Amino acid sequence: MPAIITASHVTKHYNQTYALAGVDLTIGLGESLAIMGPSGSGKTTLLHCLAGILRPDEGQIRLLPTERSAAAEITSLKEAGRTALRREVFGFVFQQGLLLPELSAEDNVALAAMLAGMNRADATKHARAWLQRLGLGEHLTKRIGQLSGGQAQRVAIARSQVTQPVVTFADEPTGALDSRTSTEVLSELLASTTGRGSTLVVVTHDENVAARCSRVVRLADGRIVSDSAAQYATHNG
Ligand code: ADP
Repeated sequence: MPAIITASHVTKHYNQTYALAGVDLTIGLGESLAIMGPSGSGKTTLLHCLAGILRPDEGQIRLLPTERSAAAEITSLKEAGRTALRREVFGFVFQQGLLLPELSAEDNVALAAMLAGMNRADATKHARAWLQRLGLGEHLTKRIGQLSGGQAQRVAIARSQVTQPVVTFADEPTGALDSRTSTEVLSELLASTTGRGSTLVVVTHDENVAARCSRVVRLADGRIVSDSAAQYATHNG
């Protein structure tokens, strides 16, 4: 599996607290990686550093080139470069979808595509296609406030995927859903990302979510304390 992101010696501290205390991680293209660990262990900080939302104090994070995107040194990009990366190359799904409640499902998704540079007609076409694929064909013009939690989270998945991101970052994407809806939404998130050969990085507390990912990394006190891929490598010589 080719690598898509490499992080080396990443640290981030807030006053005396080390949120990340030296993280080395190589993420594969097409992998679904769950980041787990107790509250305060640095999961969200790591996700935000990998995604170019936060700049680490030290260390380096690189995006490797793919057919769809150029190589980038994420840690040394200026704000404009990081914004472009987040809009065009990465996708995001959060616990509360962070959708615009007054806009329709279709407009929420189309807006993300337009922010990435698509014209309105194409953006609308792709938005509809993704919403239909996620079972929301009957709800295109409904406002987010008129949808159930699971439906809204499917809109958030459509919004994250309409630009065909190379890496999708999700922070507790099923945290606000009941267990059955959570299972369905996770299946759709996996199918929409790894199902088309792209990468999913998901922060979760939920062992059921982690169990369905291809790899699980556990953090404690800002360090990686276990990595299922490393165990696999060890067992296999
Ligand atoms: P997790 O996602 O595993 O709960 P976080 O990455 O949110 O952990 O936080 C890791 C540590 O960094 C915690 O001790 C937290 O209090 C601290 N931290 C995170 N963000 C900030 C911030 N903006 N200001 C101060 N401390 C922070």
